Amino acid sequence: MGHFGVDLSGRVALVTGASRGIGRAIAQALADAGADVAVNCHQHVERAQAVAAAIRSGGRRAIVIAADVSQRQAVLAMVERVARELAPPDILVNNAGIATVREIDALDEADFDHSISVNLKSAFLCIQATLPAMRARGWGRIVNISSAAARGAGVVGVHYNAAKAGLEGLTRGYAARLASAGITVNAVAPGPIDTDMAEPLRRTEAFRHIPVGRLGTPDEVAQVVLMVIANAFLTGQTVAINGGVLLA
Ligand code: NAP
Repeated sequence: MGHFGVDLSGRVALVTGASRGIGRAIAQALADAGADVAVNCHQHVERAQAVAAAIRSGGRRAIVIAADVSQRQAVLAMVERVARELAPPDILVNNAGIATVREIDALDEADFDHSISVNLKSAFLCIQATLPAMRARGWGRIVNISSAAARGAGVVGVHYNAAKAGLEGLTRGYAARLASAGITVNAVAPGPIDTDMAEPLRRTEAFRHIPVGRLGTPDEVAQVVLMVIANAFLTGQTVAINGGVLLA
């Protein structure tokens, strides 16, 4: 039995954007619960290698795959490599994301498209690529990392609101269609969490008004992800973890 009473031994997990921040904590928590883990990153390969090394030192298998998850070919190659070197993923955590702060008048089409590609289309691509093996096995867990910005205004911009709200729609649509196949699909929606992404947001007014009085930690988000993965009757939901921030 690993973390939080969840036993994932024999399972293979793919965590996107696991080189740092929330994804890193999720990758480690999954390994602590017994899973072998594929650690995806985009550019910070050395940081991803450190995450994989920590997982291996705990006795689990881990591989690093640098791939831009907004690109279909890169995602297909990534999932093929996980299958070859570990096994086809039983657990997919779509965590990779970007939050480029833009006020309404500064937001251009390229910013909008990029936010949708990296924060939303990536999840579609990763789900489509991992689904056949989950279906064949009759068991799967998909967790999409959304944000409080899916429902509130937040501090990043409308491109981020739209992408994260879209991700929650994607979650419900897949969940409804996959429930009978033994595959649950849920979203976890963090409020402000202490990572690199939160750095430029610290000075904003919203960050000074977190009811709990501090930023959340990546480990606190990972704990919720593990809870979601452990529960076979929870599907199509968004679980919020936000220190009491409702609508920023
Ligand atoms: P972070 O510290 O900025 O880390 C982002 C991760 O995503 C990194 O591992 C990065 O890889 C990876 N990534 C970015 N673009 C990618 C791409 N195109 N392909 C593959 N990987 C990519 O962010 P974080 O705070 O941990 O956020 C993780 C998730 O939580 C995101 O979806 C974010 O929207 C969500 N979230 C965060 C907060 C918060 O306050 N921090 C709040 C709500 C939701 P490299 O290291 O290689 O660049």
